Amino acid sequence: MITNFANAASIPALVQSIHHPNCIAKNIELSILRLDKIHPIISGNKLFKLHGHIQRLQQQSYQGAASFGGAYSNHLAALAYACNVLHIDSIGIIRGEQPTTLSPTLLDCIRYGMQLKFVSRSDYAQQDNIKAKYPNHYWIDMGGYGTDGTTGFKWLLNRFNSAAYSHIITAVGSGTTVAALQTHCTPQQQIIGISSMKQNHSLQNSINALLPDSLKNRYQLFHDYHFGGFAKTTTELIEFIQTIYRSYQLPTDIVYTSKMIYGTLHLIRNNHFRAGDKILMIHGGGLQGNRSLPPETLPF
Ligand SMILES: *Cc1c(COP(=O)(O)O)cnc(C)c1O
Repeated sequence: MITNFANAASIPALVQSIHHPNCIAKNIELSILRLDKIHPIISGNKLFKLHGHIQRLQQQSYQGAASFGGAYSNHLAALAYACNVLHIDSIGIIRGEQPTTLSPTLLDCIRYGMQLKFVSRSDYAQQDNIKAKYPNHYWIDMGGYGTDGTTGFKWLLNRFNSAAYSHIITAVGSGTTVAALQTHCTPQQQIIGISSMKQNHSLQNSINALLPDSLKNRYQLFHDYHFGGFAKTTTELIEFIQTIYRSYQLPTDIVYTSKMIYGTLHLIRNNHFRAGDKILMIHGGGLQGNRSLPPETLPF
């Protein structure tokens, strides 16, 4: 399924060097894996997280796929698109009452044939009750969380010289990508997750639950780069996104990737890394969150 969307031969070309003054002065090599360039819709880490889930769905006789998300969910947009191409029925459970105007992300989901069901915030918390209403669907947890969400990354890391990096850094939502990188990296590599949420300390348990004992707690998580909370922005963050775009032709989103790059540059400046380190940031792809901003806020 992955090879339908991602061209294996083009993966090495997705590594972009970032010549930032912080890095040059400290003799640190910084690059970013541009997973945003893989595909215009099913971009980024969501493609690799869906791989294992869709494989399992296709091996058994489910009526379709179902999952959860918010109004600007990168995960639901990717799932709806993948299901459309693969002729799989899809259901999206959306948190909150149905608004009079749907977000552009949800309109896209409908266009790809996803059935949307709006549930109140209190019902949304009872995910097992919702799942019980559609027992013949293959349920994917929010953000593609789960062991099946980790398998696709093996394919990705084998497609380029990923073992050459001393550190691999990703933004964190569900934690599946951190668990996947930890599972498939070499024992010498350090995986770092930069949380997009405010002080979500249950993350460590969620990530450990996807790892064998020998790999639990080997990764590092940082919780200080959320800019006020999940999907929250500040003027400083918007200016940072504009600067990163102008300097490196690098489009980023307000939820995950901009905060991850900001955090990485901050850690470099504060001597978290040593001379000679080679850092690879993973651009998680999805830019859906930016569609919640007033028009013309960003130059891309
Ligand atoms: C979903 C997402 C993440 C977080 O991935 P998890 O595996 O859920 O931790 C990071 N970046 C982007 C752009 C995403 O869409």
